[in-house]
Amino acid sequence: MYNTKAYSAASATSPLASDTIARRDPTEHDVQIEILFCGICHSDVHSVRNEWSDFMSTTYPIVPGHEMVGRITQVGSAVTKYKPGDLAGVGCMVDSDGTCPQCKANLEQFCPSLTLTYNSPDKHLGGVTYGGYSDSIVVDERFVLRVPDNLDLAGVAPLLCAGITTYSPLRHWGVTKDKKVGVVGLGGLGHMGVKFARAFGAHVVVFTTSPGKTEDALRLGAHEVVVSRNADEMQKHAGSFDFILDTVSAKHDINVYLNLLRLDGNITLVGAPENPLEVAAFSLIMGRRSLSGSNIGGIAETQEMLDFCSEHNITANVEVIPIQKVNEAYERLLKSDVKYRFCIDMASLKSE
Ligand code: NAP
Ligand code: ZN
Repeated sequence: MYNTKAYSAASATSPLASDTIARRDPTEHDVQIEILFCGICHSDVHSVRNEWSDFMSTTYPIVPGHEMVGRITQVGSAVTKYKPGDLAGVGCMVDSDGTCPQCKANLEQFCPSLTLTYNSPDKHLGGVTYGGYSDSIVVDERFVLRVPDNLDLAGVAPLLCAGITTYSPLRHWGVTKDKKVGVVGLGGLGHMGVKFARAFGAHVVVFTTSPGKTEDALRLGAHEVVVSRNADEMQKHAGSFDFILDTVSAKHDINVYLNLLRLDGNITLVGAPENPLEVAAFSLIMGRRSLSGSNIGGIAETQEMLDFCSEHNITANVEVIPIQKVNEAYERLLKSDVKYRFCIDMASLKSE
């Protein structure tokens, strides 16, 4: 066991503050990583503030962060995929049972004994797992990703959650050329959804509540932008979408988007608002529409996504901040005031 610097929150109403946490010494299958960058996901805010308490309540102190890129400092004797000095990524998961049908199908994100990167029981040290707002982390090599060396590392970090969470459902629902695809909410997830849907060849329409994001949305790859509070603009797209990816983090009316789907169209929720959404039966019945959800993506698919990004030169658009600005960043995230992902430069933690 060794100590490492981190930022943690002591309660749902406490700000994040400097702390020291324990990490395990690498076992034979482990990789130790010096964290260079960590993205700020809206899930970090939900978790720190215990907004998902009905589903998964938060144990304090919490060290959030599940979009990490770093450099390997040490590997265990049985590690075969990595060596010290390699770049590495860690996303939302750090362990699973490896034996259930989901794990065998490379869908570890649905394993019943999944260990999340933070706020999950820690099988090694007891207590809960601690995330990436930290100097270093120790992870089983099965949950470590190869990071391409041709991309900006700060822009790669958010791919480990925002990237895979949008890539996976777009692939699953067959988004390709000639499909009309909507992306609701232009935040961290949404802007990656736009980049991937465009790269897959779809006709991409962004729905935003922020008229000021229109130009950016077009630059990011959208063909059209609809300000969702404008009912006339929404009506023009009625019954026309094959697929809509909903990334909204707060309560909103899902029925208006269901009504934009064509026959057999699907909306997939990746956004995880604190409170339930209401669905009108007829929004689904008329047009045999479906509403589904999606949780990040498996490790193999995450690697596929990173390799796709390397080939197509795709990264997140990041505002890099020192960790001392993390509380301010949370407040700005809640106002949709980020272009389009905050990413913490972990070098800033060394001065704490
Ligand atoms: P984010 O950067 O804050 O983006 C959310 C976007 O939603 C905002 O930029 C805003 O876009 C829109 N929005 C916010 N409040 C709204 C409201 N009241 N009504 C309508 N639109 C609103 O957050 P994120 O990091 O992308 O995460 C989005 C959600 O996905 C969060 O709930 C997060 O927990 C969840 N998530 C899920 C998974 C998964 O595996 N399923 C993985 C990661 C994150 P506009 O300004 O364009 O309207
Ligand atoms: Zn996330």
